[in-house]
Amino acid sequence: MTRIRSIRTRVWNWTGPTLPPQGNFCTNASDALYERGDAMASFRFHQWLTCEVETEDGTIGLGNAALAPTVVKKAIDDHYAPLVIGEDPFDSAYIWEKMYRRTHAWGRKGIGMTAMSAIDIAIWDLMGKLVGKPVFKLLGGRTKEKIPVYYSKLYADTIPAMQAEAETAMQNGYLAFKSRFGFGPKDGMPGMRENLKRVEALREVIGYDRDLMLECYMGWTLDYAKRMLPKLEKYEPRWLEEPVIADDINGYAELNAMNSVPISGGEHEFSIMGCHQLLERKAVSVLQYDTNRVGGITAAQKINAIAEACQIPVIPHAGQAHNYHLTMANANCPISEYFPVFDVEVGNELFYYIFEGDPEAVDGYLQLDDDTPGLGISLSDKHLQHFEIME
Ligand code: MG
Repeated sequence: MTRIRSIRTRVWNWTGPTLPPQGNFCTNASDALYERGDAMASFRFHQWLTCEVETEDGTIGLGNAALAPTVVKKAIDDHYAPLVIGEDPFDSAYIWEKMYRRTHAWGRKGIGMTAMSAIDIAIWDLMGKLVGKPVFKLLGGRTKEKIPVYYSKLYADTIPAMQAEAETAMQNGYLAFKSRFGFGPKDGMPGMRENLKRVEALREVIGYDRDLMLECYMGWTLDYAKRMLPKLEKYEPRWLEEPVIADDINGYAELNAMNSVPISGGEHEFSIMGCHQLLERKAVSVLQYDTNRVGGITAAQKINAIAEACQIPVIPHAGQAHNYHLTMANANCPISEYFPVFDVEVGNELFYYIFEGDPEAVDGYLQLDDDTPGLGISLSDKHLQHFEIME
């Protein structure tokens, strides 16, 4: 048996060139504020945390988190690492409970659960490497020949720009697409019409045989969403994502009960019980936990079982290897979100610059290798000149 001997955390701060997206590229929770500051700051991810868990034999498991990396680093270094060092990585469920219960007074959600997630993902990568198997083979194995993905970008922009992007994505073989709304309650009726025009314009390009998902990133209110839903119906969206703030479970449930457009969410929910609440309340028709926030692979796998029993499909938030392994191993995960490889913009694509080995989509699908141990990713040294790294 080899025990965990150290945990190394690093914050990767992108200092390289950044493409500025246009002003209202996506609604977000800060839209409701009266402020003159940078309202889009909550939708920009130019920092990332990596978490390396090493065993006595020198094997290293790699996990990561993208939520408030400097604070999560401190939480791991000061509070979680001492709970994990000395443990057998194959006691992963025990380690999870130990981290959860020993920090329960403050750690259950938000920063604490994100720190746990990064460590847990690293431990699964470690277990895979120690037994020489890919993580998905430890989770139940291959349930799909390959993983269908949806193209997740199409930020709100001018109509010609959005149509051109959709056209290019179609030519690249994508079969499903997600777009972001640029207008919300503060933009009134004219903004509503601008939103609808863009959905119509995208349908003109992709037709009605391909899925179209629509994203609000918590930038609408319940009232606004209730008025929008009937107007969106004729465009047959696959789902409407995070129409209201994450805490408004009643709002999600009310919108979902309208049976107009399926409501999705969960990327800002934490833990097994948080996701269970969403399911029990029938608040979402598609569950989208984020593995590196929700409690890592250990929590995600338990949530998958609950969701399957409720017959609610799970489509984890974001690309990245840990989500693909869960999707491959669960029949109830039908498709993966996929951030296309792109110059650094809002930061959704930053993981391609930090890691090597994340699979790239070909003709709308991606593949995991049956023989690559662990999650199949490693730290890249190709873009080091564009990062400021904090140990
Ligand atoms: Mg989302």
